[in-house]
Amino acid sequence: MATNASIEQQLQQILDDDHIMINEPLRNHTYTKLGGAADYFVTPSSYEAVQEVVKLANREQLPFTLLGNGSNLIVKDGGIRGIILSLKELKDITVEGNEMIAQSGARIIDVSYRALDEQLTGLEFACGIPGTVGGALFMNAGAYGGEIKDVLKEAVVVDPDGNLLTLSADAFDLQYRHSNIPEKGYIVLEALFVLKPGQYDNIKAVVDDLTYKRESKQPLEYPSCGSVFKRPPGYFAGKLIQDSHLQGKGVGGAEVSTKHAGFIVNKNNATATDYIQSIELVQNTVKETFGVDLEREVRIIGEDPE
Ligand SMILES: Cc1cc2nc3c(=O)[nH]c(=O)nc-3n(C[C@H](O)[C@H](O)[C@H](O)COP(=O)(O)OP(=O)(O)OC[C@H]3O[C@@H](n4cnc5c(N)ncnc54)[C@H](O)[C@@H]3O)c2cc1C
Repeated sequence: MATNASIEQQLQQILDDDHIMINEPLRNHTYTKLGGAADYFVTPSSYEAVQEVVKLANREQLPFTLLGNGSNLIVKDGGIRGIILSLKELKDITVEGNEMIAQSGARIIDVSYRALDEQLTGLEFACGIPGTVGGALFMNAGAYGGEIKDVLKEAVVVDPDGNLLTLSADAFDLQYRHSNIPEKGYIVLEALFVLKPGQYDNIKAVVDDLTYKRESKQPLEYPSCGSVFKRPPGYFAGKLIQDSHLQGKGVGGAEVSTKHAGFIVNKNNATATDYIQSIELVQNTVKETFGVDLEREVRIIGEDPE
């Protein structure tokens, strides 16, 4: 691997200085407000720049990690080695007829509201999901009976060799909170959604109803990563956690929400270690009480502190 100075120089050949940050604390970029620093945090503003960064990483054998809005991630306190790619600069949304093309860094909430403005129906479910388009496709995000799989037609990605590909939706093996993007190593650059014509008032009524449900049930006043666990077959994670009397409990500054048992909130300057230990506390207690294994929905990445 080249020296740090050489890597910085190579990054500067691809990106302007204000798109390269060194030792950037990731708690500034995650919804949970957790996480150590990234060696290199870059924000490319063109598809070509993304491809070039991937080729640089391959050449220098540097690991690289995609970051969306950090709303389904816990970055460990030791941070992340190599390059963090944030596509927040790539956030255009365009509409042609019933089709919407959204770049990866656009917030899926903004895409949902744009569909409302355009009187297109199909993305109401996403009106409160605080992720980006890229993160939503990676997770096959969904809520209230809808999911990305229902509306995705195709997506443009960069493959691990830096090639640009357009793939149809079925190439991503989308299932409940799952895609094959981690195995394939794709970087999502844009998604094409196919919607149906609707009426503004009807779409708005659904969006308002879902927003009311979300705001009344979820602890949105604290940083969190949403539902920590997937729905175990035949059960509801929140109910199992509630019935295990875990609400209000946790480690350090992290706590199982008293408002929604499926959430763990960063209540008081939690570390990632507090958060991860709180997740383990919940998994162990639910297993002991009900014999059910809770599988994490949230992803944990990065390194333990030294
Ligand atoms: C309050 C709250 C409510 C939530 N409600 C819901 C809900 O109702 N339904 C739901 O499904 N989720 C929900 N979530 C979880 C989260 O918002 C979704 O999983 C969302 O899709 C994650 O998007 P993100 O951009 O934040 O991704 P991140 O958390 O940044 O990343 C998630 C994964 O996607 C990868 N990734 C990100 N961008 C790209 C890209 N461009 N290309 C390739 N890989 C990429 C990352 O490497 C990471 O592995 C909620 C979270 C919070 C905090």
